[in-house]
Amino acid sequence: MQDFTQFIRDIPDFPKQGILFKDITPLLGNRNAFQNAIEAFANRYESESIDAIVGIDARGFIFASALAYRLGVGFVPIRKSGKLPYDTHEATYQLEYGTDTLTIHQDAFSKGSRVLICDDVLATGGTLAASIELVEKLDGTLVGIALLIELTALSGRDKLANYDIFSLIEF
Ligand code: AMP
Repeated sequence: MQDFTQFIRDIPDFPKQGILFKDITPLLGNRNAFQNAIEAFANRYESESIDAIVGIDARGFIFASALAYRLGVGFVPIRKSGKLPYDTHEATYQLEYGTDTLTIHQDAFSKGSRVLICDDVLATGGTLAASIELVEKLDGTLVGIALLIELTALSGRDKLANYDIFSLIEF
């Protein structure tokens, strides 16, 4: 598999002091790198009989929708509170200061569907843990979690110990 690290730009102190932000826009803007990243996900999951790919608001949408198109399956958005128009399930999770809420449409996929969750970055794992809760509220079978980047020092993987995690880049 291609080494994608050169397409990730470090931005210190964004969006606030002390955060080293992983900017994925150089990868998105490079047609070979973006296409190869989607193909790497496709190779990993094309034999898994996936029914739906769940993307997490907002950068997760980019990878989840491209991969859903590539695999010929449905795309399902998990969005921040107040954005989805129909009946939703909610999951609230802890941030460094305060909480945040993620939502999914109650009819996003049918019970027993084989679901893949896709996001750009795994940091502490809070966002993914809440997303898993939403998939499980709908009685989906979580096949795996596909990530562009895993920040291993933050040990987010420990929060998601029972699930199969596949990341293209580790920092
Ligand atoms: P967490 O819930 O801590 O795992 O944070 C994951 C979410 O926050 C992902 O959806 C990322 O988009 C974003 N995120 C967290 N840390 C970073 C970082 N250092 N660089 C870029 N995005 C980040």
